[in-house]
Amino acid sequence: MIVILKKNVSQSMIDQLCGELRSRGLEIHDSNGTDAHILGLVGDTKAIAESWILAHPAVETCRRISEPYKKANRKFHPDDTVVQVGDVKIGGGNFAVMAGPCSIESPQQMELVAQRVKAAGASILRGGAFKPRTSPYSFQGLRSEGLDLLLEAAGKTGQPVVTELMNTEHLPLFEKVDMIQIGARNMQNFELLKAVGRTKTPVLLKRGLCSTLEELVMSAEYIMAEGNENVVLCERGIRTFETSMRNTLDISAIPMLKKMTHLPVIIDPSHAAGIAWMVEPLAKAAVAVGADGLMIEVHNDPAHALCDGAQSLTPDQFDNLMGDLKAQLGFFGKTLN
Ligand code: PEP
Ligand code: MN
Repeated sequence: MIVILKKNVSQSMIDQLCGELRSRGLEIHDSNGTDAHILGLVGDTKAIAESWILAHPAVETCRRISEPYKKANRKFHPDDTVVQVGDVKIGGGNFAVMAGPCSIESPQQMELVAQRVKAAGASILRGGAFKPRTSPYSFQGLRSEGLDLLLEAAGKTGQPVVTELMNTEHLPLFEKVDMIQIGARNMQNFELLKAVGRTKTPVLLKRGLCSTLEELVMSAEYIMAEGNENVVLCERGIRTFETSMRNTLDISAIPMLKKMTHLPVIIDPSHAAGIAWMVEPLAKAAVAVGADGLMIEVHNDPAHALCDGAQSLTPDQFDNLMGDLKAQLGFFGKTLN
């Protein structure tokens, strides 16, 4: 249920209303936005009569929310949420590019890629230390040593980092990580979602290979329900009957998610396409359709990459893409952060 407050009501009146609502076991999500002051009520609202709320002098109107997601619902929070990762803003007109190799391989590789993507305009450094691989015989990542290499390289360029967490046991290793990635395969690992929800670290939540948008938003709700509202959603391609690409980029997901939720939404064209030449057109489509950012795989030597070389851009290709994106972002009135 959402309660829309009258304009210019006193804070003491609002406090009194909130006190009564809390005493009935409800949690209040307070959003004082540009157009309206809204109280989102989370909990069992079935027993709350609309007539009782409408009788309060601070209340303009109230409405029941039928969607199962509450905190992530745009009806609870009409303004765009801006998630801050280090000093980088994502959402609300701020566009952020996360770039780096699929997996962290060596100090030289990480330092070179970090410098090049930073110089090209990527504000967040990505790199996988714990890798979810389809085959147990494929490279599984450098694990905690990889995390150290990522943080060292980012320390030199001054970028915040994003990297994937695969299970709750590894969480203590992620203390210095600026943004925790929950990968497509773990989108519905509810214990993992709850664990990152109990931290304050921003979370990049990737859409599962076969997940609906409502399931994605419900997974964000898991994180937010535990107290961490710094969630960025990522469309990274879904499984369809098409076989000519690794996945199918669901470009329609962006406007739909933006209608459903107030959270920032980014696109990962690398995992969507699985082919390097297709990253550029898909990245441009992301900007055109209103995404708040991109995650792009960049490798110094894609032909010898230990993971996802076929979809990785070289630093020179990434330079060219960023040049085009800067011009395009200006046209769409967005700020590259
Ligand atoms: C990744 O970003 O390295 C990754 C494994 O992505 P996804 O979970 O989208 O497959
Ligand atoms: Mn990858």
